[in-house]
Amino acid sequence: MPIQTEILIIGGGLAGLTAALHLNKQGFDVTLIEKSAYPHHKVCGEYISNEVLPYFNWLGIDLKNLSPTQITNLQFTSATGKQVNTTLPLGGFGLSRYSIDYYLYNLAKSRGVNVVNKEVNDVVYAEDQFLVETTSGERFKAEYVLGAYGKRSAIDKRLERNFINQKSPYLAIKAHYKSDFPSHLVSLNNFKGGYCGVSKVENAILNVCYLANYESFKKHKDIQAYQENVLYQNKNLKKILEEAEMIFDAPLTISQISFNQKEPVYDHMLMIGDTAGLIHPLCGNGMAMAIHSAKIVSELIQKRTENKTSRSSLENEYSANWQTIFGSRLRFGRILSMILQHKTCERLAINSMTAMPFVLNKIIKHTHGRPIKTVN
Ligand SMILES: Cc1cc2nc3c(=O)[nH]c(=O)nc-3n(C[C@H](O)[C@H](O)[C@H](O)COP(=O)(O)OP(=O)(O)OC[C@H]3O[C@@H](n4cnc5c(N)ncnc54)[C@H](O)[C@@H]3O)c2cc1C
Repeated sequence: MPIQTEILIIGGGLAGLTAALHLNKQGFDVTLIEKSAYPHHKVCGEYISNEVLPYFNWLGIDLKNLSPTQITNLQFTSATGKQVNTTLPLGGFGLSRYSIDYYLYNLAKSRGVNVVNKEVNDVVYAEDQFLVETTSGERFKAEYVLGAYGKRSAIDKRLERNFINQKSPYLAIKAHYKSDFPSHLVSLNNFKGGYCGVSKVENAILNVCYLANYESFKKHKDIQAYQENVLYQNKNLKKILEEAEMIFDAPLTISQISFNQKEPVYDHMLMIGDTAGLIHPLCGNGMAMAIHSAKIVSELIQKRTENKTSRSSLENEYSANWQTIFGSRLRFGRILSMILQHKTCERLAINSMTAMPFVLNKIIKHTHGRPIKTVN
């Protein structure tokens, strides 16, 4: 017999865990299935915009004891090492995914969310119910399924989502380091074929995380050779990397990163976080978007339960809200990354940001949200 639950969430990253906490607070019976054991490191820049703080507060999420760094300033450097500096209008904080995901997982468990450490490999919708199956054969029945399984998963193949067959030319690499890098700063450094984010997380650890074009990467023998031959062309990056001492045994890598459009609702599954769409990490805001999308979907499920409206009206409202809140940010992120990878356009962009610093603030405004308003 399948295990019955009201809401089943596939994936326990920031989107899935936040939705689990929200829906649990509203009194729903929530099961979350995550394939990896906690805690684990993730390829991510680990800079989180402060826009999430009012919502975290409402959820009773208190990150103080994890000692995040407070980040107030942004530095942008061009491939040739030219710099633009500004303060961040809202600011943010630096916290490793190892710590924050683990904290949220423990919080969810302590509040009664049923967290299952398995990998989902099939989801079928029929007669207003979902049947979800794991690779080891456990079966679950649920009224709602939230897809929170990140950028790319075997489930997308199974569901035959469009983006999965399109080319994804990027890979990403991340490692933690010991370094004297200032803790109030997030530094975004452009290089030929990619960009690299640098900022501190808890315990004075430096996170260096970059996105690279696979075609350019594969011409080099290994990660070290790629960094020395390509990233070091940016003088700022060369200095940061040469002065830092890696703590990880080896950098983490992920490939096939796609910024192609996805659907916020697919075969009645409500997609949140990267499963609904990934913003170019140059805009540094994917985690806040993942958290915000969890809030939108949770509120709409609550609304449907109270007003007894149809499933299709919930799905239409979620898709429309998602497009209104995130659609233009994602488009802007795609355009920005194209501009910065074009040599002449990059030079023009840097020159205008140096001459008119408000241009950089305008870019930040277009790619970031306002503080996430809470329900009551
Ligand atoms: C190079 C790079 C740098 C970035 N830097 C930043 C940054 O500095 N700031 C920022 O805000 N954003 C950044 N982002 C974006 C950010 O990492 C994502 O937007 C965020 O992690 C999305 O969270 P999520 O919960 O949707 O997905 P994830 O955190 O990826 O979580 C998905 C979870 O689902 C699980 N899962 C997958 N398949 C299954 C399955 N079949 N069954 C069960 N579980 C499954 C996975 O194990 C994972 O734990 C960056 C992204 C990249 C690529």
